[in-house]
Amino acid sequence: MTSLTDAGAPPDKPAAAELPILGTYKRAPMQFVRGEGVELVDVAGKRYLDLGSGIAVNALGYGDAGVRKAIVAALDTGLIHVSNLYRTEPAETLAASLVAQSFADKVFFCNSGAEANEGAFKFARRWGRSVSSGAKTGIVALRGSFHGRLFASLAATDRPSYRAPFRPLAGGISICERDPRALDVALDGDSVAAVIVEPVQGEGGVRVLEESLLEELRRLTSERGIALVFDEIQCGLGRLGTLFAYESFGIVPDMVTIAKPLAGGLPMGAILVTAEIGSVIKPGDHGTTFGGGPLVARAAIEVLRRVSDPALLKDIRDNGAWFGEMLRGIAKRTGKVRAIRGMGYMWGIDVVEKASDVIERGWDAGVLILSAGDHTLRLLPPLVMSRDDLSRGAALLEQVLG
Ligand code: PLP
Repeated sequence: MTSLTDAGAPPDKPAAAELPILGTYKRAPMQFVRGEGVELVDVAGKRYLDLGSGIAVNALGYGDAGVRKAIVAALDTGLIHVSNLYRTEPAETLAASLVAQSFADKVFFCNSGAEANEGAFKFARRWGRSVSSGAKTGIVALRGSFHGRLFASLAATDRPSYRAPFRPLAGGISICERDPRALDVALDGDSVAAVIVEPVQGEGGVRVLEESLLEELRRLTSERGIALVFDEIQCGLGRLGTLFAYESFGIVPDMVTIAKPLAGGLPMGAILVTAEIGSVIKPGDHGTTFGGGPLVARAAIEVLRRVSDPALLKDIRDNGAWFGEMLRGIAKRTGKVRAIRGMGYMWGIDVVEKASDVIERGWDAGVLILSAGDHTLRLLPPLVMSRDDLSRGAALLEQVLG
């Protein structure tokens, strides 16, 4: 039943491949039973420093008292869910807070990142049709993008191995090079409704897009009446050291999608839109049973309050720059690193060997590291991680690289 690779699993536990869970993930052998601060604890009691935050979700780490209090308070009202047929205070407070702190005038709540992007595509099309004779429906995404695994979001995701088995994908969605000349050709104002961009491409290798490219995108889309959508599902909500990623680049989009950390680990996504786009969306245009329910919204109010704290955001900027220097030092000392990219608490490290080998050695050493491609390590520490813990993470990384 078990093997030597089942490091954290007790002898009577089945290996991942034998689980009755569909095999869409290559699961690590450890089974986690507890989280404390920035560490996870497995069933054998071994502790792991988390440099991945459950893929950018656990911004406040594990066992956060504020999130717990918010969830308990929501449970005490007896309202986990009432449906979007009725008003509830938490969703309205959360939407008001998102609007007050951003360019947006309206918010739609959903349950995941892919759903947020799919909704944004629908809103873009609805708006595009309303400002044209009906032909303005195209969606353009960029080379290296990841926008989700549903049909339209997959069509906007530039990963051949994710796409090929599921063709035909949703139509009217194309991928364009990250190049101003290619964008100039692709962004035809008569047929394109929206372009979607991750300001820092996460799954695609932690690639920080050049400010000049984003500025050119904003110029082209403004001139041609195309909606600019920022997918901030991974890089937003504080990760770059600004509440919204667009603030780090000095560019204001027309829509922003967020998800991952929004509700402290409960499933939630949101689409932020301008008044102009919001004005064309009518009852029946879109919907979701669970979106913006009182339990998740109450948790999200607390997360948003915390990740918008200027002191936390400053720490992320300062500690992030310092951490980047630590990583460059590791690169120099080990000779095992080809390139380092990132900002804030979002870093990519191109390594000579297979990323999965480094990650597995990390399990033995008690550190959780993510990948973003076959030869890229990805670090997305909880936003509350201190310099001491970042330093400990860097030392563990150096150990497993060496
Ligand atoms: N967009 C980006 C930039 C992401 O990183 C992800 C998830 O990794 C998604 C969209 C999809 O989010 P979800 O997995 O919640 O559907």
